[in-house]
Amino acid sequence: MNHLDEKVEPIFQEVLQRNPGEVEFHQAVREVLESLGPVLVKNPEFADRKIIERICEPERQIIFRVPWLDDNNQVHINRGFRVEFNSSLGPYKGGLRFHPSVYLGIIKFLGFEQIFKNSLTGMPIGGGKGGSDFDPKGKSDNEIMKFCQSFMTELYRHLGEHTDVPAGDIGVGGREIGYMFGQYKRITNRYEPGVLTGKGLDWGGSLVRTEATGYGATYFINEALRVRNDSFDGKTCLVSGSGNVAIYTIEKIHQLGGTCIACSDSNGVIIHEKGLDLDLIKQLKEVERRRISDYISFHKDAKYIQGGNIWDIPCQVAMPSATQNELNGKDAKTLVNNGCIAVGEGANMPTTPEGVKIFLDAKIAYGPGKAANAGGVATSALEMQQNACRDSWTFEYTEKRLEEIMVNIHNLCYETAEEYGAPGNYVLGANVAGFIKVAKAMVAHGLI
Ligand code: NDP
Repeated sequence: MNHLDEKVEPIFQEVLQRNPGEVEFHQAVREVLESLGPVLVKNPEFADRKIIERICEPERQIIFRVPWLDDNNQVHINRGFRVEFNSSLGPYKGGLRFHPSVYLGIIKFLGFEQIFKNSLTGMPIGGGKGGSDFDPKGKSDNEIMKFCQSFMTELYRHLGEHTDVPAGDIGVGGREIGYMFGQYKRITNRYEPGVLTGKGLDWGGSLVRTEATGYGATYFINEALRVRNDSFDGKTCLVSGSGNVAIYTIEKIHQLGGTCIACSDSNGVIIHEKGLDLDLIKQLKEVERRRISDYISFHKDAKYIQGGNIWDIPCQVAMPSATQNELNGKDAKTLVNNGCIAVGEGANMPTTPEGVKIFLDAKIAYGPGKAANAGGVATSALEMQQNACRDSWTFEYTEKRLEEIMVNIHNLCYETAEEYGAPGNYVLGANVAGFIKVAKAMVAHGLI
């Protein structure tokens, strides 16, 4: 781990003390705080106004019971969360995650990251995150609907286009957003598209939102390669996961001339040396909701390694797109030793602190999640813009906007890193640039 500045160390100790057991939240806070020492020197008013202390404390945290009936009429109780972290730049904005591992510490790490990510997009959105420890795997469509309806029956009172606007994340895609939107409309008697993003295209959704996180992460790395006089063309790539972010990362890499040879899920890894068959992956995952292991029944020259580690496969570009802490120090070493020159995080905090240090020391092009995967939330903000003016834009126009936003985020992180004496360090660039904008707004709003 890197050193914390002496002004920042006591703040971090207080975060540890006030939030016991929330290890992912501690990790996310520490990673940002490691970058902030020089910012306090340049901006003493941030220390006077206790901006860092305030930013580490969510504005509001909502925890609620979510009861639902399964197909056998058995009662289940899950726990729902919405952490409304920071509204300095706009209404709280951030996804909902349905996964059995969800607890307050995960939602808070995601909400905290979201503040800086949303700031980097340049769009008027604050940071929040939510979800439940509900496990969607193996549930019928009817059970998913009942769960979503029960979840929204509490959550609706906290939402609003000017207050809090959730979207999807792990376990929450278009189907779940649809059920939640339906329940919101039914309870409130208001057709309010601006209250959720990631909606279906016929009822207020935006073209490119489905593709946005994966496309955006690929655009970010494309730009990082470009400033190094390189490109995706001819590169061998790995993309972990096989969900929404992974699928559209693979798609954009293929469009830019790279070849993805492996993807994964929480059970194992698929390797297809001649390049992954993306149409098949979409059919298996998006349409039939099957496991990635089924891929090998369609391609005899592909391999499935149960429990395998995708990062052991030699590649030039790695795009972790599954979940937090999926890539550790040992994996980072393996990647660098195998000749990997760029890592772009589609997932949130997928690399452990040891792994991050190895990438930074090796001076490869390393795009941290809060910068590289900001295309998803940025396109959600474009969906909000379309909803506000009751319009819908073409795919080409929306994708162009996304690409511009990602290039801007890249440049902002790149230039900030240079300004703070750490050229090429996108971690520092993203943390500092994301923080300064929020901090200035907090100073302007007074002590609230
Ligand atoms: P999905 O639910 O669509 O897909 C998640 C994928 O990750 C699945 O293939 C899942 O496999 C896999 N996965 C989960 N846990 C593990 C694990 N421990 N090891 C290996 N694979 C695992 O989610 P998304 O694609 O939407 O989200 C992926 C990541 O991207 C998350 O970190 C999310 O926070 C981040 N993100 C998402 C955005 C979005 O717009 N959707 C925006 C910005 C960031 P399995 O089916 O086995 O669980």
